[in-house]
This record gives sequence, C-alpha cells and structure tokens, in this order.
Amino acid sequence: MTKNILIRGAGFGGLELSSSLSAEVADEVQVTLIDKNDSFKFGFSKFDLMFGRASMSDVSLYYSDLVKPGVEFRQETVTSIDAAAKKVTTDAGTYEPDILVVALGADYDFDSTPGFVEGGHEFYSFDGAFALKDVLNDFKSGSVVIGILGQPYKCPPAPCEAAMLLHEWMTERGIRSESEISLISQWAIPAPPSPDGSKAILSRFEELGITYTPNTVITSIDPSKKIAITADGDEIPYDLFLGIPHHRVPDVVEASGMAEGGWIPVDEKNLSTKFPDVYAVGDVTSAPAPKAGVFAESEARAVAEHLIAEIKGSGSPVPFQGAGICYVEFGDNMVGKVNANFLPGQPPTAPFDDASVEIGAEKSGFAAERKQRWFAAP
Ligand SMILES: Cc1cc2nc3c(=O)[nH]c(=O)nc-3n(C[C@H](O)[C@H](O)[C@H](O)COP(=O)(O)OP(=O)(O)OC[C@H]3O[C@@H](n4cnc5c(N)ncnc54)[C@H](O)[C@@H]3O)c2cc1C
Repeated sequence: MTKNILIRGAGFGGLELSSSLSAEVADEVQVTLIDKNDSFKFGFSKFDLMFGRASMSDVSLYYSDLVKPGVEFRQETVTSIDAAAKKVTTDAGTYEPDILVVALGADYDFDSTPGFVEGGHEFYSFDGAFALKDVLNDFKSGSVVIGILGQPYKCPPAPCEAAMLLHEWMTERGIRSESEISLISQWAIPAPPSPDGSKAILSRFEELGITYTPNTVITSIDPSKKIAITADGDEIPYDLFLGIPHHRVPDVVEASGMAEGGWIPVDEKNLSTKFPDVYAVGDVTSAPAPKAGVFAESEARAVAEHLIAEIKGSGSPVPFQGAGICYVEFGDNMVGKVNANFLPGQPPTAPFDDASVEIGAEKSGFAAERKQRWFAAP
C-alpha cells in the first residue's frame, strides 16, 4: 500500500528526505513536499547577496525544476499543525497523511533585542542580506560591529566568515584603513567544539586587524547614541551594527505546542517526535547538533533510512550519525573545513583543515552536488 508522507519545509532537511525517499522507494510512497517559497537558497548565498556578488534569482533553485518520482511539490503556507491527529492545514487545504515530517527551520525574533530593528542590520534572512548590500555601498568609514545576540544560532562560524569577507570587501573598495571591524560573541572562542578551527580564525583575525571580543552578551542597542549595551552595562560604539538575531521556531510550530524549551524534542537516533508517525528534522529541533544545513541533511538521512526500512520491511537503518562538514570562508577565495562530529552520547569532535583555495573549489562542488541530488531527474 502506498504511504502518504507529508514533508513541511523544503529546505536542507526536507529536500534531502524527499530525494532519498524518491531514490529508494518512489513506487511505495506519495510524498507531498510543501514550502511557502518558490525556491530553495543555500544559507551561504547570503554572503553573495550582501556583498553584491549575486542577485536573488542567481542564488535561487526553483522548486518548479524539481523532478523526483513519487514527490510532488506544492507552494503553500502551513497555517496549523495538529501533531496528535497528524493533521496539517495550509492556506490551500487540509492534509491527513500517514507520516508527517516537520522541517520548517528556525525563524528570527528581531524584536527581542530592544533597539535592534531601529538601529541595526542583519544578514541572516535573505531579505536582510539583500538590503544590506545598499547599506554597505553607502558605508565609507567607521566602526562595524558584528554582534551575536542569542544562542543557539545558525551556522556558528557564519559571523566570523562575515567579518573576514567584510575585510576583503572593504579592502577592494579602498576603505579598510578608514574602518574597524569587531565581532562580539557570547563564546570564549569563535567555534567552541573546534579549538583548532577557532585558533585558525583568531590568527586570521589578527592578520586582518579584526577584533574578537569574547564572553560578551549584547542586551540592547541605543540607535540615538549608536551604542550596543552589554549585560555588564558596557557601551560599545558603532557606526554600523550587524546583529545575529535571536532564533526561534516558526509561529506555526509554536502554536502547535510541539516545541518544548524552545525547540521540538526528537529521538536522536531516528528523529521521531513523541507523536506516533510524526518526525522533525533540522533547525526546528533540539537534536544534539549545531543548527546548520549539513546536520539538517544528516538528520533527514536518518529519517529516510528508518522509513525506507519500515516500508520495505527489511534492512537495518543507520541511526543519526551527527557528522557534518562546515566550510568556513577566510576571504581571498580561501576556505577552511571543520570536520564536525556530534555523534549522540559522545563528546563532539571537530578537527580543522587549514583554509585553502582547493577547499574553496570543494565547497562549490558541495552546492552543485546537492542541486543535482535534490532536483534533477534520476
Ligand atoms: C549566513 C549563513 C550562512 C550559512 N552557511 C551555512 C553553511 O555554509 N553550511 C551549512 O550547512 N549551513 C549553513 N547555514 C545554515 C543553514 O542555512 C540552515 O541551518 C539550514 O538551512 C537548516 O535547514 P532546515 O531544513 O532545518 O531549514 P531551512 O533550510 O531553513 O528550511 C525550512 C523551510 O521551511 C519553510 N517554511 C517555514 N515556515 C513555513 C510555513 N509556515 N509554511 C510553509 N513553509 C514554511 C521555509 O520557507 C524554508 O524553505 C548558514 C546560515 C546562514 C544564516
């Protein structure tokens, strides 16, 4: 009997899951993949948008190009979820599938830092990154402060990458000597699970004249005085403030009551929730891994393995492996690589490969490979 599987959210997690099911059990499933947007964009494309290297359409992979047997994409917005009844309502109708997967990612809470909306800018949303392009073009000199406003946040090295790419961008425009760049973090080092990666980032910061301020929590922004205020009452002056906003589950997930302590709890082996036949993957969960696409993908693969074994009635599904490669932009086309492993039940490990042009080429291959795997006909 064909299983109806509803995947809400066609990001890293939803696309990996739908393509894995299509590759293995296309004849036994009817997968409906729902997203409110018409296209997927890699998180790292936000750098291309903010530095004016690409337009929104350049970085969009359109769902209308998705050709996967057994998978139907629908552009709809999920408006309510009843996990106990496995019932989902969208702006176009109601679904009652056999299996439900929540892959709706993380949203941002811009208002939770007073003054941020009025006094700051951000590159964590695609619209924010795109709007920042014009702000950067108008910036001629002064102090740029990149502030991490809350934990957890997506792609932990991204604020450091922004600082290093900003250095490169300002240097190209001849305004670097007129400017300061600093990063304010709540962590002692840039990427705590990777001491080697952190050391390499801090050494590059020193080389580029970027200041790293550790263990500092920014609680509010005062746009009239152009200062960021810390939990200790210190004042950090800025001319341009770029904030990494507080993250939260999307409103529809909050309203569903599925989240506990902020995120959806899941079984770390197969990402099942406490509701029968309901799974959750990626940034929307409290799975024991950083909020990053590579981990959303690895969680989706664990769900796929589990469902494929169940549908075929054979095989031993491989549980969530917690492994993922995080590429870190160092500027000048140099990219470093954190080989992270958050295997459940063990302390995380994250050895680092030094930044090189070769790893930069590997990162381009990473995107091309996913485009092929997630969208192209078999
Ligand atoms: C600047 C930056 C750089 C990054 N760089 C990297 C990197 O190099 N490597 C990496 O692995 N990760 C990176 N990330 C993180 C990565 O983008 C996310 O962690 C990843 O996309 C999470 O995958 P997901 O499937 O959980 O959610 P998402 O990919 O966010 O997908 C969620 C989907 O749900 C949809 N959705 C939400 N609400 C609704 C609704 N109500 N109805 C219908 N659809 C809805 C959204 O439109 C979205 O398509 C970066 C992030 C940022 C901000």
